[in-house]
Amino acid sequence: MPEQRRILRTAIPGPQSKAWHDRRQHSVATGFAATLPVYVEHAGGGIIVDADGNHLIDFASGIAVTSVGASAPAVVSRVQEQAARFTHTCFMVTGYDGFVEVAEALNRLTPGDHAKKTALFTTGAEAVENAVKIARVATRRPAIVVLDHAYHGRTLLTMSMTAKNVPYKDGFGPFAPEVYRAPFPYPYRWPGGPEQAAEQALDRLRDIVTSQLGPDRVAAVVVEPIQGEGGFIVPPAGYLPGLREFTEHHGILLIADEVQTGLARTGDLFACDDESVVPDLICTAKALGGGLPISAVTGRASLMDAVPPGGIGGTYAGNPLACAAALGVLETIEQQDLTGRARAIQAAALPRLRDLANRRPAIGEARGRGAMLAVEFVQPGTTAPAPELARQVAERCHAEGVLVLVCGTYGNVIRLLPPLVIDDDLLADGLSVLEAAVAATDG
Ligand SMILES: *Cc1c(COP(=O)(O)O)cnc(C)c1O
Repeated sequence: MPEQRRILRTAIPGPQSKAWHDRRQHSVATGFAATLPVYVEHAGGGIIVDADGNHLIDFASGIAVTSVGASAPAVVSRVQEQAARFTHTCFMVTGYDGFVEVAEALNRLTPGDHAKKTALFTTGAEAVENAVKIARVATRRPAIVVLDHAYHGRTLLTMSMTAKNVPYKDGFGPFAPEVYRAPFPYPYRWPGGPEQAAEQALDRLRDIVTSQLGPDRVAAVVVEPIQGEGGFIVPPAGYLPGLREFTEHHGILLIADEVQTGLARTGDLFACDDESVVPDLICTAKALGGGLPISAVTGRASLMDAVPPGGIGGTYAGNPLACAAALGVLETIEQQDLTGRARAIQAAALPRLRDLANRRPAIGEARGRGAMLAVEFVQPGTTAPAPELARQVAERCHAEGVLVLVCGTYGNVIRLLPPLVIDDDLLADGLSVLEAAVAATDG
């Protein structure tokens, strides 16, 4: 594991990274963004070491993927062992132990103690897309309800389910049909104020479903229990239980997209656990593979089995190396109590972010849960989004060796997604850099 300390040996990016970035400009499609154009040599714990030997503090985890660290011993050793046994068979052709073990573990660990089954895939978008396929077959209904600020992926169906136009949808239409949108209770921006958000958002959704769509045409509502790309928006207490009650009443499935929130990130194994909400289907990915591509749909056995053999699958679905990695991730989460660690990160970081928000008029709100924390930038004295300011603060953090990501429908939110194994000193140092960057930027 690299030395767990921020070390700047060159400007960021340094000459080696710049050389790689130059080669990239000539060889890689420009459609791939580059948040911070450094090129990584190795990574582990809370540190990324770049090609120039700089040690950067990782507040991104490769977008909530390397929660156990980017080279967790249990993941590395299990993947090495599996690679030496065999790399691939295609589970639809011949089976193997790891796929079954990951399915058993997810059936046991996801919310609810009903009979469950699991289908493994490769990416988060694929999990969401398959959850919709399963819901449509199981209910024989066509319509899907999604929410404002939602992010569900980049494939045709999941892009259609995603809310934000630029950059995810612009020019990529026509979109998939039978996708309808209802408001998401965004407490900071709810017109009637945060106290009204949950009930008014539920009222709107109930009205859209009952008076516009017809409940018996709606297969599922798909919700991120805490929204990710949309801006780390935490719905007020009562919203998810209200959604559960309404959908259940009409035989509409509740699909939780826990691709970003799942596997200990929010201080529970799943974000739905916070209010004991039990979805019918739950999508996981990102942190599940600790860096290897794997995703899953886990749900009521009766629903999962509505699809006949051959109806779902994929060449690489539940690839053996990725299954080995997932078993290493689950072992690490349990052995190192990473749900507890996520809560400790919240306890250390959220008060500092709230204090920063109180002191700096350009921060409208600090929010989040567990190790999924964010600050939203606004024009001082208003709630008008300040995306340029968020970008400048992020750039300053990057120059000081702290990797942060910007998100939000309005591009004005800086989010913190540190690996859950980050140590206290690194976390504190990274937060100090963020605080100084805000102070230096917002005047
Ligand atoms: C990242 C993400 C996805 C898409 O996952 P990919 O692996 O990039 O396809 C879907 N839903 C949510 C909530 C996500 O954060």
